[in-house]
Order: sequence, then structure tokens, then C-alpha cells
Amino acid sequence: MTVRTLVLWDVDHTLIETRGVGAELFREAFEQATGRKLEHPAEVTGRTEPDIFAKTAELHSIPFNSELLDLYATALTAAYQARTAELAARGRAVPGAAEAIGALARAGGVIQSVLTGNLRAVAEIKLQAFGLADGLDLDAGAFGSDDPVRARLVRIAQCRAAGKYRARFDARTTVLIGDTPSDVDAARDGGARIIAVATGKSTVADLRSAGAGLVLPNLTDTAALVKAVTAVPAEGWDPTG
Ligand SMILES: [Mg+2]
Repeated sequence: MTVRTLVLWDVDHTLIETRGVGAELFREAFEQATGRKLEHPAEVTGRTEPDIFAKTAELHSIPFNSELLDLYATALTAAYQARTAELAARGRAVPGAAEAIGALARAGGVIQSVLTGNLRAVAEIKLQAFGLADGLDLDAGAFGSDDPVRARLVRIAQCRAAGKYRARFDARTTVLIGDTPSDVDAARDGGARIIAVATGKSTVADLRSAGAGLVLPNLTDTAALVKAVTAVPAEGWDPTG
């Protein structure tokens, strides 16, 4: 198989929804790591896990450092491990997600992984809980545990995929699929095409005004998604244009 395209899926509200479990486990891990009650939740949409934790610590006037982040990451991972069955029961895969991953796998020449603000261990638990891990090569992706700045995750994933598949992935041949303006920004700033999907809070209009040229209302039109991924733009295409 000649590998031509690297697809990087966002996780939350693009592939899966925890339906409240994620917020509960965040609270649990925050309180365990800091010894404080969570009183001032930070905005989480589109942000990486380390960024959300640092902002929440700041809102509680708690000095932030890497040791505290490590404590939090350990507590969060343990909380997800302990409540995987509950996550599977209460949350869900976004409608069409499994079919979309399956169709892209059959399209040929497409490697699929994730680009997510989640810690890697948590992303794995979430994807496994909803039966989505099999079609994705997580060794070719990038996570919030790699860098708190989402746009920088694009290069990290491209390098990992290049090393593993001996192919070069650039802004033409890397596609982010995500549900927030932060995903659109990460593609533009990090060097990738974006397919935005209005499966989260952001509407089609929100995602268009964030700069996404291609927006799908959801993941259920598998043929449209495959067509969009495999339509690699011509040499010289400008991702910022
Ligand atoms: Mg998302």
C-alpha cells in the first residue's frame, strides 16, 4: 500500500462523547492532585488537558508546576481506568464514527490516528471503550501529553507517522478532522488540511467563520468524508489561503 494521506482525528465530540463522565473524572483528579475542591471550572472546549489543568489551577490561585501536572495526569489516568465500564455505559461513539473509520481504512493509502488534547493513556481508554481503537494507529498520532499547544501536535504526529510508514506527510497530505475552532486553528497554524464536523457545540456556521473551508454537519455521510480526505490538493496548494 502506498501511503498518501495521514488522517488525524480529534477525539472528544468528534469521535466520542463522555456525556458528563469526563467532567466528573476531571473534578476527581483535580481534587486529588491539589487537595482543593473544584470551585472554578475553566472552559475546556478545544483545549489540551495540560492547558485546562493549568488554567483551572490558576483560577484557584494554586501555583502550577510540572510535578503538580504529573500528579494530576496520574490521578486522571487512574480515574479513567477505574471507571471504564461506566464510561462505556454512559458515553457513546458519535453516530457514524465507526463507519467513517472503517470506510477510510478501506479507501487505501490512508493512515488514521488522532490529534487530541487528551493524555495518551486517556485517549486510548476512551477509544477502546467505544470500540474505535482498532482502525487507528495511536503511535502515529499526537496528544496533549506531548505538548500543551494543539498546533504543535501536528508536526509531532507527522514526524511519528513519517518514521513508522517511511512516507512524508505535509500540509497537503495531512488532514485533521475536528469539531471546534481550535481544531481549525491547529490545522492552519500546524500545517494540515481541516475537515470540520459540527458534531459538538460549534455549528456549521461557527466552523466556517473560524476558517474551515470544508465543514460537514456530522459523520454520517461516509462517502462525502472519504471523498474529502482522498481529494489531495495539487502541488503548491496554500493551506493559509
Ligand atoms: Mg473536540
